[in-house]
Amino acid sequence: MNTKDQIEALRDELRQHNYNYYVLDNATISDYEFDIKLKELQALEEAHPEFFDANSPTQRVGGAVTKNFATTVHDFRMYSLDNSYSKEDLLDWETRIKKMVDGDVQYTCELKYDGASMNLTYENGKLLRAVTRGDGVQGDEVTANVKTINTVPLQLKGDYPDRFDIRGEIILPIEGFLKMNEERIANEEEPYRNPRNTASGSLKLQDSAEVAKRPLEFLLYSIKGNDLNIQTQYEGLDKAREWGFKVPNEAKLVNSIDAVLDYVEYWDKHRHELPYEIDGVVVKVNNLHQQDELGFTAKAPRWAMAYKFKAEQVSTRLNEITYQVGRTGAITPVANLEPVQLAGTIVKRASLHNADQIEKLDIREGDEVFVEKGGEIIPKIIAVDLSKRPVDLRPTKYITTCPECDTELHRIEGEAKHYCPNYNGCPPQVIGRIQHYISRKAMDIEGLGGETVALLVKEGLINDYSDLYDLTVDQVIPLERMAEKSAENLISGVEASKKIPFERVLFALGIRYVGETVAKKLAKHYKSIDALMNASIEDLVSVDEIGERIAESVVEFFGSEENRRIVERLKTFGVQLEISAEKLANQTEKLKGLSIVVSGVFEKISRNELKKLIEDNGGKVSSSISSKTSYLVAGDKMGPSKRTKAENLNISIITEQAFLDILK
Ligand SMILES: [Zn+2]
Repeated sequence: MNTKDQIEALRDELRQHNYNYYVLDNATISDYEFDIKLKELQALEEAHPEFFDANSPTQRVGGAVTKNFATTVHDFRMYSLDNSYSKEDLLDWETRIKKMVDGDVQYTCELKYDGASMNLTYENGKLLRAVTRGDGVQGDEVTANVKTINTVPLQLKGDYPDRFDIRGEIILPIEGFLKMNEERIANEEEPYRNPRNTASGSLKLQDSAEVAKRPLEFLLYSIKGNDLNIQTQYEGLDKAREWGFKVPNEAKLVNSIDAVLDYVEYWDKHRHELPYEIDGVVVKVNNLHQQDELGFTAKAPRWAMAYKFKAEQVSTRLNEITYQVGRTGAITPVANLEPVQLAGTIVKRASLHNADQIEKLDIREGDEVFVEKGGEIIPKIIAVDLSKRPVDLRPTKYITTCPECDTELHRIEGEAKHYCPNYNGCPPQVIGRIQHYISRKAMDIEGLGGETVALLVKEGLINDYSDLYDLTVDQVIPLERMAEKSAENLISGVEASKKIPFERVLFALGIRYVGETVAKKLAKHYKSIDALMNASIEDLVSVDEIGERIAESVVEFFGSEENRRIVERLKTFGVQLEISAEKLANQTEKLKGLSIVVSGVFEKISRNELKKLIEDNGGKVSSSISSKTSYLVAGDKMGPSKRTKAENLNISIITEQAFLDILK
């Protein structure tokens, strides 16, 4: 087999596995085997860029960065649907239909997925572009991001039309949404409010590699095009399945409005058994000729109707408002409710967000409140039932001192939350910071868990994370449930953390707003904690993607004597507080300010090594040639169009050797 065939065979095989796993939910190989094959394909494609294909399975991992999403006009307008809320509404609709068309009318019933509407265009079986609904006439092109969604086929199967549009909803399944929020809560970030907003927000992220990390899915409901040779809506759904799209099997063909109502009633009751959220049912006249006869009003098709479920709501008693203190000192009020059944689960607590929210709704302990799950996973209080308010209830006075340490709370102007400023003496803050320090994404200290940290603090053995490095086996053994072996593990885990690289240590310090990505950026720019500690706000905001909020937080953190003392202690223990000499030796500023495009096959080093060299030396790797390109590093077999473009724009084309000479 020649290389081209080998690449094509691997692509086909991976596509089939992808389809089995994501669309059919029926994997036939292990994740490991899949990864091996994907890596094999990646290596082949890298060695043979002349066989590049934008729709190869390797392109799903993302990486393309879009700064501005191009506005694109839809080939076929995306109408919105009329809404109905009752049986009467649906019967009225049927009457209107029967006046306009002859013969029997069948209906397709489909679930109304709660996500972001999207139009995909396919040409010759390949995904050409993905465009958001926008205003229905035009939307934003988000192809690079949509490509990362595994249920979007990049290459179709079977007997598909030459060109057509297919529409559906990008959704975030509940399980994936909860997992994303768990991570955010662990990082003390505000959790996402609901799957729908998170799904539609994902589509507008600039970095497609970020989108690839989110477990989004694409569910289909409609095909548009000329000469499709499809007679009914239901047939269209079947065809879409054959071509490799994910069309939920809940779709049903029925013969009467009564049967439609049965479907609506069934799913109103059972919707919480689905892996994703729905907010109603969509009913369509099945026959496409009848659809043509019915046509459109100015806003919506006459042949379709959305039936919206009522948001689920219950009323219950608010027993008590309590307050939680987070690692950063942020206070979160929590409503403790009389347990009540809602949307298939028992609800005992609801978030109250902040003081403004409590004041706005005038929520008082003892009130009867309405709780809703709506599109949101964490239930919220939407209103107080004032008709049931006992006369003696007093307005809620938001706490003014910390429930854990009694310190007076602060509220930074413009921020919704109150903070406990007792940074060094407030137990949940002290414990929370150390728990963050040892966590998996930070110092990843094996043999030490969150409970043990709390115990160590309570016993007075540690007060901040630098104290961990002073601990001895003898000190730890007397702790509850601690044996000699586990004590030894703990100490050796702490010892091993001294090898964790600087960027992760920086994240572990727990500076507010300095998450993993920001920590990486700061570590790369400043190279050592000393340089960072002495940076001014002005200096910090000049770093790419560092804003004022982060800059202020960094300066405030290192402005504290106590924090400086802790950092100095970490230094004496040998924790990595600068980029290692080895890594540093390879980093220069020789290419600072240069934008470089790499293309073709190289002899001495691989394309990826070349790119890394550019970045390590302060340059920027760009994927396409523009007037801003400084150099085009040209290897063997570079595409002729790239060369022509570079020549037209007068961009220096240099060889691999010439590039390496620049770095010498
Ligand atoms: Zn406190």
